[in-house]
Formats: sequence, structure tokens, C-alpha cells
Amino acid sequence: MKDFWRFLKRKIFFAIISLAASLTVGCMAPISGYLETMPLFDAHNHLNRDESAEMLIKWMDEAGVRRMVLVPRHYTSDGWATDEMALSYAQRFPDRFIPFIGGQRFDLWEANAWRGDSFFLETKPKAESRQFGGLGEFIILHYTYTKYVPTTRQDLSGDVRLPLNTPLMNRLFELGQKSGLPLLIHAEAEPEMTEEMRHMLQKWPETKVIWAHNCGRAPASQVTEFLKTFPQLTCDLAGMAVPSFNPFGWGIFNTRAGQDYRPNSHVTPIQGIDGKINPSMRDLFEQFPDRFIIGTDIAHPFAYLRYKDVITAFRRLLSQLSPETARKIGHDNAERMFGPATAR
Ligand SMILES: [Zn+2]
Repeated sequence: MKDFWRFLKRKIFFAIISLAASLTVGCMAPISGYLETMPLFDAHNHLNRDESAEMLIKWMDEAGVRRMVLVPRHYTSDGWATDEMALSYAQRFPDRFIPFIGGQRFDLWEANAWRGDSFFLETKPKAESRQFGGLGEFIILHYTYTKYVPTTRQDLSGDVRLPLNTPLMNRLFELGQKSGLPLLIHAEAEPEMTEEMRHMLQKWPETKVIWAHNCGRAPASQVTEFLKTFPQLTCDLAGMAVPSFNPFGWGIFNTRAGQDYRPNSHVTPIQGIDGKINPSMRDLFEQFPDRFIIGTDIAHPFAYLRYKDVITAFRRLLSQLSPETARKIGHDNAERMFGPATAR
């Protein structure tokens, strides 16, 4: 019975969102002419085993995306990709893919792994090989969304709550500093986690950190303070510009473990369901045009069909910024961060 009510609540929730979307679609924010074709850089996308390089390139070409970061999802049963797979795609298509050393692994869900060194020992030679473009995504504080969308493993919750300041993470920050590779971290910017992140950024001021999802879906005032304080910090906007039809992404859901649809206090969307940018975020992006990058964050097979729609949503979002800021956030900042295409 409880399941039935949960199911019904979910259906009603989506019905309301879809209705709101269809009512607002007529007054959606328009896409500027130059942005319809401007090449974009997808700096946060995932790789599962069933995605071929050719399939990804087809998505990219259809959506006008020039380069893509491949974050391999190692999770067995829902992912199965490897660092070597991401690297092989980048070796075959150096001008299209940037491979990451993946952090989405079941062993890293365990607090013990963050006290040990086995992941570090595996990662260090890869980072030093200069074949990879970054490390992560490390899932540190993350709420499940299996209540909202059909992931391939409904039985697994995506709830992860780990400390950030661990022996392993400190070694990874040090590795990031020495290798120059950025660390991509998913950590919801709740007050305690925010302070942990501050501590790590203070301790490792030269390490490049990409704090995923607009620096933990934080309000503009908090992002401002962090960007001013930590010059090596970049916020990615992965999954935060969402299509109004079938909306799903970190920009929309107030996912919170065990509490259906109750907002997390820190969560600040960057746009509304009608695609209109949150004015505080527009000011933030204009104030720090060099510090944001975009990403589609297509993590699960059910979402593959949405690739072009998510890119369109980003084009709509960028249209509400000055052309120079749009070009930087949509492409140039990631190009600078990952460098020109090189043989790996
Ligand atoms: Zn994430």
C-alpha cells in the first residue's frame, strides 16, 4: 500500500511538471541565432560499456558538440566502463574525447576505501602517464534519484555520504597538484560539506578542482565567495540545464534521502522549468565568466535519447548571457582547462 501511494505521488509529481512545462513552452526563453550552431564543449559526460565511440560522436555531431569529457562509470551492472575504454576512445578520436580516470566505483562507496591506498596505487601511474585529462567523478555526498527515474538498478540507492577530508582524498589532491589534472567532485553543498570543501581547498590551493553541479547546487552568494577565495576552483553546470519536456537533472530535483520531494535547503536551481535563467545565477556567471563549464551528465542508458535535448537546454541557458560569457562557459573555459587535442 505504501508503495502504491509512493507510485501515485510520483505520477502526480510528473503530471504537474509536464503540465507546467506544456503551459510554459510557448513562452520559453528563445535561443539566440549564433548559439544555435556555436560549437559546445561537453565537459561532464559519462561512459557506460554499451556506448560506442561512434554512437557518442553521432550524438555530438547532431547536437553541435565538438569535444566531450568521458567519465567512465565502473559500477558493475549499471556502467561497466573502464578507464582503458575511455582512453581507447580518446586515442582513436583525440580531437573529440578527453578520458578521465573514473571514480564511480562500488569500492569507493565504502568508507574504508578512503582510509586505504589501493585506489591511489592504481591511479597514480595512470595520472602520471599523461594520457588522461582528469580524475573523478568522486561521489562524496549524493542523494538517490531512483524514486524519480527508472535507473537500471532500482534496488540500489544512490545515497552516498562520505567525509571529504580523508587520507585517500588528500593523496588525490596531492596527485592532482603534481600532475595538473583536475579533480571532479560531486558533493552537495550542505553546510558541513561546504566547510570540508573549504578546508580541502585551503590545504591544497594549487589543485584544480571541478566542483560538480554549480559547486554543489549552492546559492549564488556562496559560489561567489568560493570563487573569490579559491582561484583554482571551477564549477560545472552538469545536468543543470534541463529540457522542459521530461525534465530530469540536478537542476530540478530536490533529492533527499528518505524524504520525498522535500527541498534540500541548499539547493538553488540555475534555471526555471521554462528555461529562464535564475537572475542571481546570471549575475554570478557574468561576474565570473571564466569559472564555469557545462556538461550533459548523461549517466544512465534511459537518458541516452535526451542528449540533444539537454544540449538544446544549455543553448537556451547560454542565450541569456552576454555572447562573450556564453562562448566562454559553453566552450572556451573547458578548452583552456583540457588543452588542445593531443595524441595520447
Ligand atoms: Zn554528479
